Amino acid sequence: MVNTNGGPRRNVNCQIVDPDSNPIPRLYGAGECGSFWGWMYQGAGNLAECMWTGRVTGKNAAEETPWS
Ligand SMILES: Cc1cc2nc3c(=O)[nH]c(=O)nc-3n(C[C@H](O)[C@H](O)[C@H](O)COP(=O)(O)OP(=O)(O)OC[C@H]3O[C@@H](n4cnc5c(N)ncnc54)[C@H](O)[C@@H]3O)c2cc1C
Repeated sequence: MVNTNGGPRRNVNCQIVDPDSNPIPRLYGAGECGSFWGWMYQGAGNLAECMWTGRVTGKNAAEETPWS
């Protein structure tokens, strides 16, 4: 199988992290771009990750304190 995966790294809260694994405030990522499996593509495993990272990202982003 041939596949390309890449994108910004994220933690379990779907926060995008910097090269030292520190979360970048207010920046989230979901879906295939930045997949946890980017280093080892697992056929047919993308959609489950898209669904749960979308839910986690939406929930956590909505709970952020609004900018004044
Ligand atoms: C042929 C094929 C078969 C697959 N089969 C499977 C399978 O069997 N099982 C499985 O789990 N996964 C499968 N996948 C992978 C799965 O479909 C993808 O991982 C998943 O759809 C990615 O979802 P996403 O929301 O991350 O990205 P996408 O579905 O690519 O959504 C990104 C969206 O952003 C939009 N967009 C892009 N740029 C902009 C912009 N500048 N402004 C606004 N919108 C923008 C695009 O139009 C698009 O609608 C398959 C993929 C392909 C191509």
